[in-house]
Parts: sequence; structure tokens; C-alpha cells
Amino acid sequence: MMGSMSDRVELGVMVGDGIGREIVPATQRVMESAAGAYGLAIDWVPLELGFDAIASSGTAVPQATLDALVGLDAWIMGPHDSAAYPKEVRGDLAPGGVVRKTFNLFANVRPAAALPGVAAMSPNMDLVIVRENTEGLYADRNMAVGSGEFMPTPDIALAVGVFTRSACERIAHTAFELARTRRRHVTIVHKANVLTMTTGLFRDVCRQVGEQYPDVEVDDFHVDALAAHLVRRGADFDVIVAENMFGDILSDLTAELSGSLGTAPSLNMSETQAMAQAAHGAAPDIAGKNRANPTAMLLSSAMLLEWLGSRQSDERLAHAGSRIRQAVDATVASGVATADLGGQASTAEFTEIVDAHTRRR
Ligand code: ATP
Repeated sequence: MMGSMSDRVELGVMVGDGIGREIVPATQRVMESAAGAYGLAIDWVPLELGFDAIASSGTAVPQATLDALVGLDAWIMGPHDSAAYPKEVRGDLAPGGVVRKTFNLFANVRPAAALPGVAAMSPNMDLVIVRENTEGLYADRNMAVGSGEFMPTPDIALAVGVFTRSACERIAHTAFELARTRRRHVTIVHKANVLTMTTGLFRDVCRQVGEQYPDVEVDDFHVDALAAHLVRRGADFDVIVAENMFGDILSDLTAELSGSLGTAPSLNMSETQAMAQAAHGAAPDIAGKNRANPTAMLLSSAMLLEWLGSRQSDERLAHAGSRIRQAVDATVASGVATADLGGQASTAEFTEIVDAHTRRR
């Protein structure tokens, strides 16, 4: 499909568990309206993942799902409640991890920007965390075979962190390229006073890559100090590049500072493939209650359409992405909010209003 100007896009959709059953269909509806506004149609290819897949094939990520993903333009994935899976599959890598690992989706891009009219602890925050997605301190995904976490005796547990120059280089390039489209500032996260070789390599390689981007300002922080700076002066940061675990933790912090977990989007990507996935989990406490905020999933889908637009050189897709953003902004700015943001709108009501804004010309 690359480079073609087809009027159709073919998107894989994995609904996932918990509130995925509510926020993913809501997102599909709004994406269809946004694409339709530019004469584009979306062909959905539903693929099993999570509880549905366990029920039908005994595994949370069936091979058929992975095989089908290969030929599609891009994918959207709902959250998964892997902690609640049956014992036999619980030890496996979580479904999102399997897809990211199988397709080497090495960059997890997580923006945190306050929405208009939404009370936020950091109302002027507008940053993006670029999280390395394939190695680092998350031991369950940094081995080709087996896990980097193991127990020599029942009373000793060990975990291996993996940092490779090549993975540090490619995530650094992603961060610096992104900074060029924004305020031209990259902050590197590490803990090189303690994890000197591993996170020290991450810092040094990011700095070296930064020399190729003389127009982008660079600084670096220990992860603990950065957590404090984000709370105190979060609006000062632009692009933050982090290894896997630091990026995961900091992005929950920035999500809450800039709004709520329910508003935090993310895009997982490689050079050739991308998957929209909200930064939050399956929220089993509110699943099935029509209370979930679909914003994170909606904004993730906007990122996906923009990514696809740039990959296929089709401006209509990029416009469809911004249209979703504008519709979400208009909705929350008018005071409509779900319970997590202190409002009373149900998932269905919120979606209805976003969709109406999306269709409005
Ligand atoms: P995971 O480890 O998969 O990220 P988790 O249990 O740590 O999952 P979440 O499932 O993200 O975390 O839920 C954390 C809290 O945030 C819960 O109280 C949940 O209800 C709330 N939450 C998460 N997403 C949303 C959303 N879209 N709308 C409203 N509340 C949400």
C-alpha cells in the first residue's frame, strides 16, 4: 500500500479485555467518521486477543492473529487484563508485549499534554516520552528465548537488564527526529550514578546521536531527579527519551500530571509498522459499566492515522487524525467529561459528542 493513494485503509483491530470492549468500538466509530470526512473508508479486520482468544484457542495471542497483522496497514489494540488470565497462560508475556516483540515495535511514543478545560496538576505540560520498547530493565522482553528474570533458589530472585548500542541509537534517532517537529529539546533519562554501564551506555549513545542534531538542545537527568522536576516544572520538558521501565513509570506520572490515565495515548512503532494502544490498562474495576474514558484510545488512533498519513504520503489520513484531536478538544472544552475527570458523561454519551464534532464540517 505504501505510497499509493487508495481510498481505503485496512486496519487490524484487537479489542482486548475489560474496558477495551467499550473504548475500542467507540474509537472505531469516531475513526470511521474522521476518515469518511476525507472520502476514506476503513476496512476493519477483527483479530482475537486476550480472553476471547484464550476461550477459543487456549492462548492469549493466537498465531493466526500474528499472521494476519503482517499484511495490514496498521493496528489498534485495546488493553489486556493479563493478571486475570488463567494460571496456564499467566506466565506468558502479556499480549501487548508479544505483538511489540514479534514485530520489533521498538518505539513507544507517549505524549502528555493537558486538554483544554480539563483540570490538570500541570496544565501547561506538553511533552512526549519516547520509550525504548524492546530491552532495558524489563527482563521479560529482553531475551530471544526465556526470561531475563530467574530464581536460582526459592529465596533468590535475579533480573537481567539488556542495553545494546543499536537499540539505544535507534530510539535516540526517533526522539531527536520528533524533537525537530516540536520545541527542539531532548532530555535523556538514566541512572548512571548506580547503573553505570547499562543506563550509562544509554545516556552516552543518546548523547552521541544528539551530535547529529546540532539544532536540538540536549540535557540529561537521573530518573529520580527527573520525577521531581516533572512534578515541579513539567511544562519545561519537550521530548524525553527513556529506557523501557523508566519510560513506563514516568509516562504514568506525566499522564496524571497532564490529565488522567484515561487521557494518555500511545503509539508503538517500528520503521514500517504501528499500533495504537492507550497507555492505561484494562481497568477491570469499571469494565462493563459504561464509565470508561475513551479519550486515550481516541488520541492513540489520531496518532496512528497521522503516522499512516506520513508513511503513505496521504494528507487525508493526517487530516483525519487532527480531526479526531480537534473533536476531543472541543468535547472536553465544552465541559463534557467522564467520571475520571470529575464529570458525569458515560462512555457512550462522551463518544456520541466526539463523533458529532468529528462529522461536523
Ligand atoms: P496495567 O498494569 O495493565 O496498566 P493497572 O491495573 O495498573 O493495569 P489500569 O487498568 O490502567 O491500571 O487502571 C488504573 C486505574 O485507572 C483504575 O482505577 C482504572 O479504573 C483507571 N482507569 C484506567 N483507564 C481508564 C479510562 N480509560 N477511563 C477511566 N478510568 C481509567
